[in-house]
Amino acid sequence: MPHETLPEPGHHRSWWLREALAAEEDGPPAPPLTGPIECDVAIVGGGYTGMWTAYDLLERSPDARVVILEQDICGGGPSGRNGGFVHGWWDQLPLLADLHGEGAAVELARASEDAVNRIGEFCTRHDVDAWFVPAGYLQVSASPAQDDSWATAARVCRELGVEDRYLPVSAAEVQSRCASPRFRDGVVMPGGATVQPALLARGLRRVLLDRGAVIHEGTTVRRMRAGTPVVLETEHGSVRAPQVVLGLNAWAAGWAGFRTRLMTWGSYIVLTEPIPDRLRELGWTGGEAITDSRFTVSYFRTTRDGRIAFGAGVGAAGFGGVIGRSFSADRTAVARAAAGFRHLFPMLADVRIADAWGGPIDISSDRLPAIGSMHGGRVHYAHGYSGNGVGPSRLAGRVLAALADGGTDPVARLPIVGAPKRPFPPEPFRYVGARMIREALVRKDEAEQHGRRPGLVVRAVSRVPRLLGYRFGH
Ligand SMILES: Cc1cc2nc3c(=O)[nH]c(=O)nc-3n(C[C@H](O)[C@H](O)[C@H](O)COP(=O)(O)OP(=O)(O)OC[C@H]3O[C@@H](n4cnc5c(N)ncnc54)[C@H](O)[C@@H]3O)c2cc1C
Repeated sequence: MPHETLPEPGHHRSWWLREALAAEEDGPPAPPLTGPIECDVAIVGGGYTGMWTAYDLLERSPDARVVILEQDICGGGPSGRNGGFVHGWWDQLPLLADLHGEGAAVELARASEDAVNRIGEFCTRHDVDAWFVPAGYLQVSASPAQDDSWATAARVCRELGVEDRYLPVSAAEVQSRCASPRFRDGVVMPGGATVQPALLARGLRRVLLDRGAVIHEGTTVRRMRAGTPVVLETEHGSVRAPQVVLGLNAWAAGWAGFRTRLMTWGSYIVLTEPIPDRLRELGWTGGEAITDSRFTVSYFRTTRDGRIAFGAGVGAAGFGGVIGRSFSADRTAVARAAAGFRHLFPMLADVRIADAWGGPIDISSDRLPAIGSMHGGRVHYAHGYSGNGVGPSRLAGRVLAALADGGTDPVARLPIVGAPKRPFPPEPFRYVGARMIREALVRKDEAEQHGRRPGLVVRAVSRVPRLLGYRFGH
């Protein structure tokens, strides 16, 4: 399709969220905050992190006064826009072992897989139909340059006795799950699942309101005064609470204390028209979540009505923590995601791309989330999911609820909690570096995907993060 007209991103909410909102019956409203209020725990951010924290706080103490402040609507951010891949950290086992030791690495990876199961259990328990499909996560090689990219993780899983959580599979096995001629061999995480992300977010909102949480949508926190109690100031009101949780995701990059902890990059998804017959021809009927093995990963899954949602981490870098239009209306990123889809599924060249949207992802220096406390243990935070937050935010919610509840629960002492992170440079260096490196990584991946050797400059720049001690890049 050389002159394909692609959907314009940024004009409406994600397809997922539009579906979820259309299916909602008139539930209790969550009006903007007006006036001063007090509560036990105030949460900033109505995405998964904030809402799972509220859920676990109410599990621990059903009478707790929990307030969520969300500038948009719950699930209006990436929690209602993402690819819906839910999986644990088995592929991160070497990094986890390096950072925390082998025993802790396995403990953390098990906790991350437990988070996937907890999401499924939540859906069953509360009758939230978020299309939870525990069909596993398949990572494939889609070019010689991607071959064996999982070898180290698979070896470490074997050595630590957890090889059944991360299983290399042959090219024939890959083809039996999804018959693209581009796919070579792969590796399966059997504990992975998919969800319809916005149905999960909106389902969580419904359950929280039923359980007595107070949610104020359309309420932006403009200032936090971290005294005793902590005060959150909004345009028309304020909240005083002894404990505050920040579930800000990429927006944290603009907050004091986090500015050099995160970079923001865009991720975009294109969605095909319904093609259930074509999916059957591909043999892709099991509902697996699939990615290739690029650094700027392409991720793809099917929907209930037989579409493919195809995402790619190919959006631009942001400046100074401002989450502006480049994260939702980047036509170049949509074109790149569409090109990735056309490349990996050449037999679907006639299939129309019906929708496209994007959002920000919060990159930390080691691509693992930062979870911790500050201001004398009165403020707790989790962010830095680096594009993999659906499962991990479930775990983060448990940890944050435990921290806000005194921190004695063993989950609050998981080795990832409070782990130090290598800072990024301040602006404008962060932006200039992030932009150059981002472009080099995308170009390197694209060249290699097409069997070309990337240019010298691209290769050199894409190695810079690792040379500087960060745990990402090539
Ligand atoms: C296109 C895309 C695809 C993705 N695909 C996947 C995937 O398949 N699997 C996966 O694991 N991860 C994926 N991710 C990442 C995943 O969506 C996130 O890691 C996850 O949603 C993080 O949840 P959160 O609650 O921390 O953040 P968010 O959902 O971003 O919630 C943070 C909320 O805070 C609110 N907020 C910010 N500042 C303020 C303020 N000052 N006052 C009030 N409210 C504020 C925002 O409006 C937002 O709703 C993807 C991300 C994108 C953008």
